Amino acid sequence: MKDFVIGVDLGGTKILSAIVSKRGKILKRSLIPTEACQGPSRVIENIKRSIYELLDSVPLSKIEAIGIGAPGPVLYSEGIILNPPNLPGWRKVPLQRLIGNEFKKKVILENDANAAAIGEATFGVAKGIKNFIYMTVSTGIGGGIILNGKLYKGSIGGAGEVGHMIIKTDGEGCGCGNRGCLEAMASGRAMARRAKAEAKNNSVMLLLAGGRRDKINAKTIEDAAKLGDKLAKEIIKDTAFYLGVGLANLINILAPDMIVLGGGVMKMGKPFLHEVERTARAHSLPPAGEHVKIAHVKLGEDAGVLGAAALCLT
Ligand SMILES: [Zn+2]
Repeated sequence: MKDFVIGVDLGGTKILSAIVSKRGKILKRSLIPTEACQGPSRVIENIKRSIYELLDSVPLSKIEAIGIGAPGPVLYSEGIILNPPNLPGWRKVPLQRLIGNEFKKKVILENDANAAAIGEATFGVAKGIKNFIYMTVSTGIGGGIILNGKLYKGSIGGAGEVGHMIIKTDGEGCGCGNRGCLEAMASGRAMARRAKAEAKNNSVMLLLAGGRRDKINAKTIEDAAKLGDKLAKEIIKDTAFYLGVGLANLINILAPDMIVLGGGVMKMGKPFLHEVERTARAHSLPPAGEHVKIAHVKLGEDAGVLGAAALCLT
């Protein structure tokens, strides 16, 4: 039995790889830029380079398998990444085979949100929880559903796209082509879009963004709200409301034991989380709405890479 696995967290801007023990301890990590704009062959070379960097300290013979968490959609039957929006030029890239051939190891490929859900289930806050939903709210909104201790993917993949549940049919346009998806109403990108459109020229938000409307982001909104900016406060309140409604839908359909929340937007502090939870409970039915525990991720920045490693352990 080999002692270690390798996790690779492939993001749009950086690749974080790590050698991980079977108990979830990171022995060595490598962080390099993705260089996504240079196209798939450069990115694949960078993934290989980041794995080789790790092998300076632990030989390949001690590695059992390599797990990769990547932007989806993933075609599981063939280990192919289809056409992720933040990896330009990628169309049907057989990443599993390319990395497997290079290192002669078993490679498991999973979309990043599902990998993070497995990470929380294996090493994080949801350890031992049978039924839970992981939701990450940052620039976009992703999710993973664990049912009876296993990742639920659907027969052909594609399950767990919680960011694309429609919560306002006449709402904002979404990148997926629909209107009023949770991601279009309550992601960091959605918050920034509204602030950019509605901020007055003399507003605190614009001041904090150095007078550049295009530089307003979710953090600007958070800081402006703390300084009492009315629009910023309203955007945060509405975001919490939509997220809470989204969670209520999930609770009513799946009656999970726990919902695990992560991502940059969820770091806006306790009052924000409290408002999300209050709305979720107010709009969900008993007994599910009373039973569910709403928790924050435990693995933080390492969720992706530990989740990718955990793919090899389940
Ligand atoms: Zn959508």
